[in-house]
Amino acid sequence: MKTNARVVVVGGGIMGASLLYHLALEGCTDTLLIEKGELTSGSTWHAAGQCPSITGSYNLAKIHAYSNQLYPKLEALTGQCVSWHGCGGLRLATNAHELAWLKQVYGYSKSIGFGMEIVGLDEIRRLNPFLTTQNVIAAAWTRDDGHGDPSGLCNALAKAARDLGATVMRHNRVIDIRARRSGEWEVVTEKGSIVADMVVNAGGCYAREVAAMVGAAAPITNMQHHYVVTHPIPAFMERSEEIPVMRDPYTSGYFRQEQKSGLMGIYESSGLREAWAPRGAPDWESTNELFPDDLDRIAPWLERAIERMPIFGEVGIRRVINGAIPHTPDGAPLLGPAAGLRNFWMCCGTSFGIAQGGGCGKYLAQWMLHGDAEINMAEFDPRRFGAFADPAYVRDKVFQDYRLTFTTRRPGEEEPAGRPRKVSPLHDRLRARGAVHGETFGWERPKWFSLDGRAEDYSYRRNNVFEVVREEVAAVHRRVGVLDLTGFAKYDITGAGAEAFLNRVCANRVPRKTGGIALTHLLSPGGRIQGEMTVTRLGGDRFYALSAAAAELRDQDLLTQSLMPGEAVRIENVTEDRAVLVVSGPRSRELLALLTDADLGNESFRWLQAREVQIAGHPLRALRVSYVGELGWELHPRMESLPALYEAIWDAGQEFGIANYGLYAVNALRIEKGYKAWSTELTNELNMLEADMPRFIDLGRSDFVGRAATLAQAPRPLKIVYAEVAASDADARGGEPVLVRDRCIGVTTSGAYGHRVMKSLAFACVDTEFAAPGSVFDVLIQGERRAATVLGAAAFDPDNARMRA
Ligand SMILES: Cc1cc2nc3c(=O)[nH]c(=O)nc-3n(C[C@H](O)[C@H](O)[C@H](O)COP(=O)(O)OP(=O)(O)OC[C@H]3O[C@@H](n4cnc5c(N)ncnc54)[C@H](O)[C@@H]3O)c2cc1C
Repeated sequence: MKTNARVVVVGGGIMGASLLYHLALEGCTDTLLIEKGELTSGSTWHAAGQCPSITGSYNLAKIHAYSNQLYPKLEALTGQCVSWHGCGGLRLATNAHELAWLKQVYGYSKSIGFGMEIVGLDEIRRLNPFLTTQNVIAAAWTRDDGHGDPSGLCNALAKAARDLGATVMRHNRVIDIRARRSGEWEVVTEKGSIVADMVVNAGGCYAREVAAMVGAAAPITNMQHHYVVTHPIPAFMERSEEIPVMRDPYTSGYFRQEQKSGLMGIYESSGLREAWAPRGAPDWESTNELFPDDLDRIAPWLERAIERMPIFGEVGIRRVINGAIPHTPDGAPLLGPAAGLRNFWMCCGTSFGIAQGGGCGKYLAQWMLHGDAEINMAEFDPRRFGAFADPAYVRDKVFQDYRLTFTTRRPGEEEPAGRPRKVSPLHDRLRARGAVHGETFGWERPKWFSLDGRAEDYSYRRNNVFEVVREEVAAVHRRVGVLDLTGFAKYDITGAGAEAFLNRVCANRVPRKTGGIALTHLLSPGGRIQGEMTVTRLGGDRFYALSAAAAELRDQDLLTQSLMPGEAVRIENVTEDRAVLVVSGPRSRELLALLTDADLGNESFRWLQAREVQIAGHPLRALRVSYVGELGWELHPRMESLPALYEAIWDAGQEFGIANYGLYAVNALRIEKGYKAWSTELTNELNMLEADMPRFIDLGRSDFVGRAATLAQAPRPLKIVYAEVAASDADARGGEPVLVRDRCIGVTTSGAYGHRVMKSLAFACVDTEFAAPGSVFDVLIQGERRAATVLGAAAFDPDNARMRA
């Protein structure tokens, strides 16, 4: 038995096998996959094997698309039968919202390159002549997908990995994983120990237990899911073609042909059952396990599936499968490092593991071996969940996610399950004033304020909140606005070595003088963007760093894991100790001056400077920075001071027409300033030059993480650009293809309507040939081509006169 390996993968389902293969393809074959039973004996063997191209996330769609390219080739590559049926898929739309969603995904298909068309009833009936199209208005026809035999696919991936030199060990359970002083891991199995540089948790429904071996959390609940197979159907016997895999919101499930039989799978929305309830975890000896049938539970939806496919009702049910699927709270897989640990990776939590397995393995292997994947991995990073994701939260969210699997969620729509988790002390007060909150990293944060009781009519088009946001923007632009941004991640970084440390991990030089503020980025050794931070020098060796709420654990890892042994630096996460209240607008100085003795005048308190002052009697850190392009301060008091501080500002602000504002307005305001955002424009896909951030990378300094790679890399022909879009009533959101005639030359990364400049604006990553200011192209928004022109400067106040005022 191998006793050392560079990588040990725990779990031989589709995720572990795909990772093993892709590690080998990237040249890493000193690997060992350990499976406690047979390969595929967890969730994989009993899956229905469907691999849709369609999914609501642009980055996840890239993962699906890669799997669909890979699977049809595996049989020829390995000799292992995978039974790939390239019958394509039809996703039905039964109302305008579902159709709008399909149009958004159609845009993804153009920029990613998978085959998709939106088709009408005649084409739907041609593709599936057995379908009843009552209440169907259109469908997405995805030609490149299909279904395969999940066991075959998993075994083929394992064989392909073995053929390249990887090792697979079956019938051996990992019983413990121990950290060694050397930084290596000792993987203890029933048959002995293996010392590994990296360990990957691909434990499927056991991923929580495997994570617990190293003190990590895998926020997963395992759900029971049924599909049924009918007796052979005479009408199928007579045909040589196969109908596409059908997906239908009315049925809340999928149905297709299984050889000459019918197959129907249901995501029931009531009576949901956790697998192995109430514990939610299987016994270790669970292999190839199925649960007792519960057809009553899924009967209402099965009846609908038969309404859609009457020929399925003409024969009886031959086989019922009720198996376990691992689910995460947001429905996306866990791909990336476990929080707080070095070289312990997660490759689990996928509820569509067959469809996603191929792509998950590929992109995780790139990240593990090269430091970065070629697609944006932020939404899969396991560190998007923190301590807030306790078992009750995970279960609530997962039940909701399962129930809504076939419900088309509209942009901005957020359900109540599991909430609220983390609230600012202003939460109830702001709610009483109309705040509609959204959830980020467990934090409830105001998105907009409903002053007349209206609810948002969620849509891909501008909706009834558009005018509300316009008013919030007007308050910030003409008067003064106040925003609770308490969820920001915050770190105190102190000690004799703090400046040198920060200069080593930051792409921009950190401030030399007390009170200085610098925007800076954390890069990987390969030069790709990992994080974005605002670093303030509070005094000699005292720094205060701020980053996105969603990046709290990720940035904490980036900082703490960059420390060198014995380095005199202390990094303290103070996110929950300090609040953030943003006061912005031309009257903000007058307002705050009423509440403080500190001199807020332009000479003594300049833009991009910070001071420790008292406002309304509360000591706080005041940072004169603005993400919204107006005069303003970010106030960082102790958490307990926030309510009194807010009320004092609110009361004093009445004479200036103060208004609350939320994150929708922030997005509109920041895009007018041309400010790029971490995780949309600033991602692991790009270096600082490609992201068009040359002002923030100080290449003149002798060394910092990512410098050498940034300088050494041959320029790639892609760049982030900023463009004005001739939109009508729908703005870019990210993921829309950028077209020049019929050629796709890029993709939008985010967009919004700028109310101050009355323009629709977007960022896009495009071929450098089209990156110069004045370049023109089209953006496909909701299926309509909209002309766009690259801008050379911020649409609003390019000289920053308002922030410097
Ligand atoms: C009825 C049903 C239908 C489905 N249909 C589809 C579909 O059509 N399309 C789709 O994409 N997905 C489908 N799925 C979901 C899919 O099956 C899962 O998402 C996928 O199989 C998860 O793969 P995995 O590799 O993460 O987990 P698993 O396949 O469960 O693999 C994990 C492996 O880890 C092993 N293991 C765990 N702990 C240890 C340990 N300590 N030591 C050694 N080995 C260990 C287990 O034995 C197991 O083999 C379906 C699921 C069900 C239940």
